[in-house]
Amino acid sequence: MNIEPGDYVEVATSKGSVRGILLPRPEYGEGNIVVIKLDNGYNVGVIAKEIRLIRKGERKERERRGEIKNLKGLPTISIIGTGGTIASYVDYKTGAVNPALTAEDFIFTVPEIVKEANIRAEMVFNILSEDMKPEYWIKIARKIKDEAKFSNGIVIPHGTDTMSYTSASLSFMLEKLPFPVVLVGSQRSSDRPSSDAYMNLISAVKVAKTDLGEVVVVMHATSSDDKCLIHRGTRVRKMHTSRRDAFKSVNSRPMGEVGEEVKFYGEYRKRDDKLVLRDKMDEKVSLIYFYPGMKSDLLESLLDGMHGAIIMGTGLGHVSSDLLPILRKNIRDGVVVGMTSQCLYGRVNLNVYSTGRELKNAGVIPLEDMLPEVAYVKLMWLLGNYDLSKVKKLMRENLRGEISNRRFLE
Ligand code: ASP
Repeated sequence: MNIEPGDYVEVATSKGSVRGILLPRPEYGEGNIVVIKLDNGYNVGVIAKEIRLIRKGERKERERRGEIKNLKGLPTISIIGTGGTIASYVDYKTGAVNPALTAEDFIFTVPEIVKEANIRAEMVFNILSEDMKPEYWIKIARKIKDEAKFSNGIVIPHGTDTMSYTSASLSFMLEKLPFPVVLVGSQRSSDRPSSDAYMNLISAVKVAKTDLGEVVVVMHATSSDDKCLIHRGTRVRKMHTSRRDAFKSVNSRPMGEVGEEVKFYGEYRKRDDKLVLRDKMDEKVSLIYFYPGMKSDLLESLLDGMHGAIIMGTGLGHVSSDLLPILRKNIRDGVVVGMTSQCLYGRVNLNVYSTGRELKNAGVIPLEDMLPEVAYVKLMWLLGNYDLSKVKKLMRENLRGEISNRRFLE
């Protein structure tokens, strides 16, 4: 008898028997332990005495629960699907997590959504976010612009790994917004009992209905299901590989929270009456992590052919002094080089140590308390849209809340 993951089985254990779908072998489990998805959706691990096949498995199809009806008086929210765990299911045959849901499936998985808004849903891609690219960010930005004719708010389900790069790129490209743009992900796929997908998604829809005119990320606030936090798109970072509260606002407070209601903690940009998109990106920018022992020829090749580079330096913003000549030469040749810190928390300061002063004299731009990835995206966007002197000036200015000072709200 050939029993495979995905088959519906009965498993005899020392305490009786259980029935359900046989899941793939746990990665670190004992050889004789099998995991069964019970009919009530919970997974149990049991020591199998014997396994009996009841029926051969088929790929589980999502249940459809009827037509989506539009209700008068509710705002229209567009869900622009891009993929990631929030759009994934576990393939019981292979055990792999596949990006496979259509955008409509979100509505069927979280039926409460239709009480909040009338939904327009479309999948622009179905990829894991490690496969995101600047050209895809541009595609999403253009899709948002198209949706402005029909919608009062945008929700973008997205993989969590690079969600903050996408949120930063949309923050810069969308100079003015007539509605909120809310990115949302999940750390556990929606077919797992511990999934954070439902709460994150419904919270994102609630935020998309507010008077906000910014790009934000909405994710779990804690490891339990009590509330979600609203993070500014230029301040947020995934800070844990697996926890449901992996997303943190760095160097700033979250903008607010979502429980039953949405609550903002402080000031934010309000909806504009129009959408302004500036969607050029210069991809000739590198993001360079300095480490002790980094060789100058490696740095040289990372800068080769580039128009800009963001360095993640140590501490207040340093690299070893033997790398200075390469930086000096490249800056002289017109490469824009910005400095951020590997510490992530805090502000760079090139005035304290001699290395810092030399970097500054070489023309390295200290980027305040901006996150390295945000600086990388910002530099690509500025180089795509402005001349060199403007790029250098704007890199240090707070355009979308990416640097601490209040100016961009005015
Ligand atoms: N690797 C996945 C992604 O970023 C993880 C996730 O979605 O949470 O697409």
